[in-house]
Amino acid sequence: MIYLDHGATTRTAPEAVTAMQEYWEKQYGNPSGVYEFAGESKKAVERVREQIAESLGALPEEIYFTGGGTESDNWAIKGMAAMHPEGGHIITSQIEHHAVLHTCKFLEQRGYSVTYLDVDERGMVSTKELEKAIRDDTFLISIMFANNEIGTLQPVEEIGKIAKKHGICFHTDAVQAYLHVPFQVNQMGISMLSASSHKFHGPKGVGFLYIRKGIEIENLLHGGGQEKRKRSGTENVPGIVGMGKAVELKMQNLRQDIGYVKKLRNYMLERLFREIPYIRLNGESQKRLPGNINVSFQFVEGQSLLVMLDMEGICASAGSACTSGDKGISHVLSAIGLREDLARGTLRFTLGTDNTKEEIDEVIEHLKVMVADLREFSDDYQSIKVGY
Ligand SMILES: *Cc1c(COP(=O)(O)O)cnc(C)c1O
Repeated sequence: MIYLDHGATTRTAPEAVTAMQEYWEKQYGNPSGVYEFAGESKKAVERVREQIAESLGALPEEIYFTGGGTESDNWAIKGMAAMHPEGGHIITSQIEHHAVLHTCKFLEQRGYSVTYLDVDERGMVSTKELEKAIRDDTFLISIMFANNEIGTLQPVEEIGKIAKKHGICFHTDAVQAYLHVPFQVNQMGISMLSASSHKFHGPKGVGFLYIRKGIEIENLLHGGGQEKRKRSGTENVPGIVGMGKAVELKMQNLRQDIGYVKKLRNYMLERLFREIPYIRLNGESQKRLPGNINVSFQFVEGQSLLVMLDMEGICASAGSACTSGDKGISHVLSAIGLREDLARGTLRFTLGTDNTKEEIDEVIEHLKVMVADLREFSDDYQSIKVGY
């Protein structure tokens, strides 16, 4: 198998699996217990909190463990909305993950008002448009750090400055960016940040929400009062430990990993553009996630290409895992104004540190043949060929 779908999820690092094993089999104490055995679980959880805080330039008490990116996004947005029971205004973008978009839609149905900022053809939010959209009753700006489909990095630092200037809370969905691009929350002016362990070689179903000290949001989950009474539910100790190990591994090698993945990505791009005609790269060319390639193959059905790749054991995705099941085209590709036929011929390859140059060479060789074969079935392509 050749796995080029790291944007959907990543392999749990073997070191993380080993670290988790102990907390399933031996150190299974409930962190809320008062005896020493439980204290070991508590200590493990607090160690990871410190580690994550350090990776972000934050304080340990600003990190809250959650069940992943979706929960963190829901909590940040609904929790802040609940602090404004009289209603009010949220600014987000059209290309957010559904965990943000559907949460905003839910709030609209309950009387809040939401502005979904347009993006340009590279998928970039305009900070001018953002500033124009701010109203007296705007209480939250939620703009993603990096887009999961096209990899575009938003001008987060500038957004942070604007939010600060207007005294508005700034939440960012950094699920794709955290441990894939280096940043610190203070430098970026971020008030709340969502992250998910399975996007950086940790286990699934665990993540965190960073909430800057002084910012108050309502709880999403009520119960036993864990996480300083803000997120109830017995801590996912093995998951948190696994996530901590993944953070540790990533932090040790961040620059090298980014360099390696970017080089491999650029190599793949180069070969794609040199060897396959009628293709286009979607998203920003420079301000982009290191491992992301989102490319439209003209005169090709993306779904057919995906199936053919799958038969060769190559995993890629059409748009994103959350849209590839739908008939409709991706909301992100629509938002950047991509023509419908091109959107339908679009694949996303997301590379990781596990990938090798040999794998990329193999994928390119297959793609060349598959794309050429599929184009034989395209009337539009045939008429172009006749035109020559
Ligand atoms: C994967 C992803 C999520 C959802 O995270 P889960 O942990 O799978 O719930 C949210 N936002 C972005 C940008 C993502 O890529």
